[in-house]
Amino acid sequence: MKLIAPDYYNSFSCIASACRHSCCVGWDIAVDEDTYEYYKTVGGALGEKLKKSISVTDEGACFAVDKNLRCPFLQADGLCEIICSLGEGALCNICADHPRFRNYFADRTEIGLGLSCEAAAKLILSKKEKTKLIVLEDDGVNEQADEEETALLKFTDNLFAIAQDREFTVEERTENLCDFCGFDLPDMSFAEWAEFYSLLERLDKEWEEKLELLKSTNHFFIEAEFQTAFEQLLVYFLYRHMPSALYDGDVVSKVGFAIISVKIIAAIFSQLECKSIDTLADLARMYSAEIEYSDENPERIFEII
Ligand code: SF4
Repeated sequence: MKLIAPDYYNSFSCIASACRHSCCVGWDIAVDEDTYEYYKTVGGALGEKLKKSISVTDEGACFAVDKNLRCPFLQADGLCEIICSLGEGALCNICADHPRFRNYFADRTEIGLGLSCEAAAKLILSKKEKTKLIVLEDDGVNEQADEEETALLKFTDNLFAIAQDREFTVEERTENLCDFCGFDLPDMSFAEWAEFYSLLERLDKEWEEKLELLKSTNHFFIEAEFQTAFEQLLVYFLYRHMPSALYDGDVVSKVGFAIISVKIIAAIFSQLECKSIDTLADLARMYSAEIEYSDENPERIFEII
């Protein structure tokens, strides 16, 4: 079994107290059973706080966020009280793992860094060289991918090659991807996409302002200095979402999702007054948190595509 990752994977590190959009704010954070049992054994003031701050429902245990939706263990200095007191090993699985995601095949696990983390977004979008997949770990046991998985992996390799073909602009590459897969995106203006996105599940009110910006353009154009960043974005969405075609047999909606995500981010970005890799990473982070990290939003976009 192999563990595969994009070649920037090992360069990631959490920026902790310097993070402006901490993953410890705004989400329900589930606490896995083993960690919950361990937390019950912690003594002293922290043990008391752990007991008070974890709510348990039929769906399991989770940290009860405060009225500002902050994890109760996120200190004013941006550091985690649990890490500061008990060490990193005391984190629950979700906190220890974020922002990683995984997709599973018979012969490999593909791991990546989710864009909803600002440090990951900056790392991915700043990369100048074409992203390659590398083997992070190999236990030497040669499992075989089944026929369907092998076909999907080969197909995705072709998509990466098209997405990274620097003979073309990223705008042209999105058309080449549609041609290669034999489909067209729905014939919708950005204003119509904005209407559609505004009906999706919402996390942050600021996203509404970005959708307003989307309504005021119908232009898909990426300036030369940001072409590589948008290539990285396109490859990220393909890498992350193509494997889910194994479950529904629908590759078109996954490729379409990658393309429309890039187009929407580019269209909003074109309307920003300040354009830099930092502002693009922040926009991509917000898109990812709103869309990819919702249980229902990706499915609704797959459906319309
Ligand atoms: S969002 Fe990323 S950088 Fe920020 S605290 Fe979470 S893991 Fe660290």
